[in-house]
Amino acid sequence: MLTTRRQALKTLAAATLAGTALGNFPALAQTAPAAAPAPTGPFTLPPLPYAYDALEPHIDAETMHLHHDKHHAAYVKKLNEALAKEPSFAPGNDIEELLKNFSSVPQSIQTAVRNNGGGHANHSLFWQTLQPAGTIDQRKIFGPFQQALADDLGGMAKLQEEAAKLGAELFGSGWVWLVLDGGKNLTLLTLPNQDSPLLEGHYPLFGIDVWEHAYYLKYHNLRADYIKAIWNVVNWDFISARYDKAMKG
Ligand code: MN
Repeated sequence: MLTTRRQALKTLAAATLAGTALGNFPALAQTAPAAAPAPTGPFTLPPLPYAYDALEPHIDAETMHLHHDKHHAAYVKKLNEALAKEPSFAPGNDIEELLKNFSSVPQSIQTAVRNNGGGHANHSLFWQTLQPAGTIDQRKIFGPFQQALADDLGGMAKLQEEAAKLGAELFGSGWVWLVLDGGKNLTLLTLPNQDSPLLEGHYPLFGIDVWEHAYYLKYHNLRADYIKAIWNVVNWDFISARYDKAMKG
């Protein structure tokens, strides 16, 4: 009994000491892992498929941190918040399906889903369509996608020239899109804000984000330089596989 009591006092003293020690080192206390936030909705932020600095020097790590961790995360959060306002509407967790069936979205949350659901879909695709420079020879693209690129858009050089022109002409925020249109032809177009090509009946293959948040830290006002640089880090293998899948579907 006495031993147990002495033991308990010892434990208490140790705990108090530990508390004091932590109190003296607030920085240490802050490194304790934070509790995982409660899930707030059906959609989640996908991790980047490479390191933040993987696209350097063409896209800098700081831009990637802000773009993915803050901007994309905010679209996901706001999309979930909008959906929480209409609990009887249960769209599942496939963002592309949700946007394809946009007319089924309740009127009261359509604007929020258009902007934030579009933002989630566009950025989820964007990360996947990029890769570290030099991963593949950018000039060597094979197969049906390469043929379609030649037939529909006049080839890779023409595609890049036309995309640069569209990017320069786009006023304000938006994206330059390479899509498969309703007739299954490759088409280049621009859409404002976070409007998804899926809302227009097009299937997005690759988009260049020309919102200032995508390039301003490194390229400042020189949007054309950013668009020129992005070709160094495009994942054409991913895009041509996506094309093949869409053509079969
Ligand atoms: Mn963006």
